[in-house]
Amino acid sequence: MTRPVMLHKPKPRQKKSLGRVRLSEIFTSIEGEGVFAGTKTMFVRLSGCPLKCHWCDTAYAIPMDSGNDFSIREVNEMIASQLQPSTYKVNFTGGEPLVQHEAVIEMAKFVRQKGIKTYLESACHDSLRFAKVLPFIDICKIEFKLRDSRVVDEKSYPALLKSEFECLKKAVAASKKPFIKIVVTNSSDLQEFRDIVTRVFKIAEPKDIAGFIIQPSYQTDEPVLDRLFAFYDSVFPFYPQVRVIPQLHKFIGAR
Ligand code: SF4
Repeated sequence: MTRPVMLHKPKPRQKKSLGRVRLSEIFTSIEGEGVFAGTKTMFVRLSGCPLKCHWCDTAYAIPMDSGNDFSIREVNEMIASQLQPSTYKVNFTGGEPLVQHEAVIEMAKFVRQKGIKTYLESACHDSLRFAKVLPFIDICKIEFKLRDSRVVDEKSYPALLKSEFECLKKAVAASKKPFIKIVVTNSSDLQEFRDIVTRVFKIAEPKDIAGFIIQPSYQTDEPVLDRLFAFYDSVFPFYPQVRVIPQLHKFIGAR
């Protein structure tokens, strides 16, 4: 058999940037959102987010080149040295942590070895990456962004919604007991909200989820009480444990 003639030297394979992470900050505070609000939490904030929520309160972490570049080993050392006693969980947040999902997996493995729970705070925009990270995460939140969040342009919104529901399916199938969060403003569309709620409970039974949080927007088109009742009343028939919980940390002056 004639061997193929090699005309060109094969290009060296581009080295994958595994083992490094672009990190915005690490700090410990009181969790201010969701069903675990009030727990002492270490926040590992990764840089980079492809989304554009207009109420984003961590805009400094959105650019991919924000923060600093570290090896995973360096970050794990920082986590170990800064970990405070009685820390309930480590929250991988952003930015959007799934942008650097391989780094999240490595750090989550390390945190679990320390006997601490891992938590993924993602916008669920990439269900494939979400599925890869899920086995290393103890607590997960599935967030549904309403159209008025302006998270993506109108054309891309159906794809984002699809990904969020995919993430919910995967989390339920993996028995992760995710909790649901939806941020509402005074202008959020009630029918759009109801449609999402109906779809959520076609995928998940009440026993499959750890909570359903309606989070009022803060200092941006804040919902009045009657609007909050309307959102609450839409969830209650499906899930009487629904809660309206604002971002607690904003009220106690914590980050
Ligand atoms: S997903 Fe999070 S980090 Fe990204 S724009 Fe929205 S709020 Fe900001």
